[in-house]
Amino acid sequence: MDISYILNELGEDREHYFNAVAPPIVQASNFAFKTVDAMSKAFEDEMGGYLYSRGLNPTVDILRKKLAALDQAEDCLVFNSGAAAIFAGVLANVKSGDHIVSVKNPYSWAQKMFDVVLPRFGVQTTYIDGTRLENWQLAAKDNTSFFYLESPNSWDFALQPLQEVAAFAKERRIVTMIDNSYSTPVYQPVIPLGIDLAMQTATKYIGGHSDTLGGVLCGSHAMMKKIFDSEYLGTGSGIQPFNAWLLIRGLRTLQARLERVSRSTQEVLAFLKQHPAIESVIFPFDTSFPQLELARKQMKDAFGLMTLVLKTDNRQSIVRFCESLKHILMAVSWGGHESLVIPKCAGIPAADFNPANREHRYVRLYVGLEEPSYIIEDLRQALSRM
Ligand SMILES: *Cc1c(COP(=O)(O)O)cnc(C)c1O
Repeated sequence: MDISYILNELGEDREHYFNAVAPPIVQASNFAFKTVDAMSKAFEDEMGGYLYSRGLNPTVDILRKKLAALDQAEDCLVFNSGAAAIFAGVLANVKSGDHIVSVKNPYSWAQKMFDVVLPRFGVQTTYIDGTRLENWQLAAKDNTSFFYLESPNSWDFALQPLQEVAAFAKERRIVTMIDNSYSTPVYQPVIPLGIDLAMQTATKYIGGHSDTLGGVLCGSHAMMKKIFDSEYLGTGSGIQPFNAWLLIRGLRTLQARLERVSRSTQEVLAFLKQHPAIESVIFPFDTSFPQLELARKQMKDAFGLMTLVLKTDNRQSIVRFCESLKHILMAVSWGGHESLVIPKCAGIPAADFNPANREHRYVRLYVGLEEPSYIIEDLRQALSRM
């Protein structure tokens, strides 16, 4: 399907709302029925029509249709955050006694679910280096029901061979889910590779303006219905109509923003790679990246996030670099208009800082929508103060 059609037209029924170009926010909790039969039908299958906005809502439905099409999936559910989408996707597919295999260092709240929540219900998780198919094969046990992927992974951008892992999982009837937030389905379509559940946080590139949260799960009708009838309705974690409207608004400019971020990333990367205060830059499409070939095979492009390894033997110079930035903000999240940094050492007690551990010298950079020269100048002056 044409991406311009998806972003500008699909799911929109303008003649039903005064031919307004932007859709209305249907800010209603409940929907009225004319007949008892119609109400009965809605009770029987809440995914079949409008009953109550904890289930379906017309504004959210426009967004669902667009996001399903972007992912080349049959259906989609949109949650109030990416973390809520992860929880629902995993919980719906495991039961007491099951075993999960996950990439090591998945998104922090996925890891918390695996380490803290699921063991209370008798579900155990094994973390592996997901870069090689053999590691998934070796880790799979008789009771393994779920593979959790994140490609590229945070900070080191490690990739998993998606098509191979999905094919092996299918043979073993193991459900696969991926956190596809880095690439989005536009640059890494994962459903055509055989992945069952495609998750992305909508807080990042879909929203794009750092003003709302959201989370996306895409997959088959049957899978989405299973999640809708249980976790989605039961936890009430669906997105609110206004936030859905903001995400539809974000989608209008998704491609233009991603193209801009991609071009700027190239310029910023070229500057950083030759800077004497930078030991190396970790970035999936860089010639120094150990999985460059796989990156080029399964991703159409890489941009936005990269990890800088600063050349220093002390924490203070990392602090000086981050605190000297005049325009680039120090904040979590990414995917918005604003460039951002997070120093890894902010999450490590100062006394434990060890410069011999290269990870302690990581600073994650997100390249936003500012002029590349503006971003580079800010990096240059802050690096000079290290
Ligand atoms: C932000 C993020 C999430 C979580 O999304 P929220 O919308 O913040 O809940 C999950 N995975 C990745 C890779 C993220 O960057």
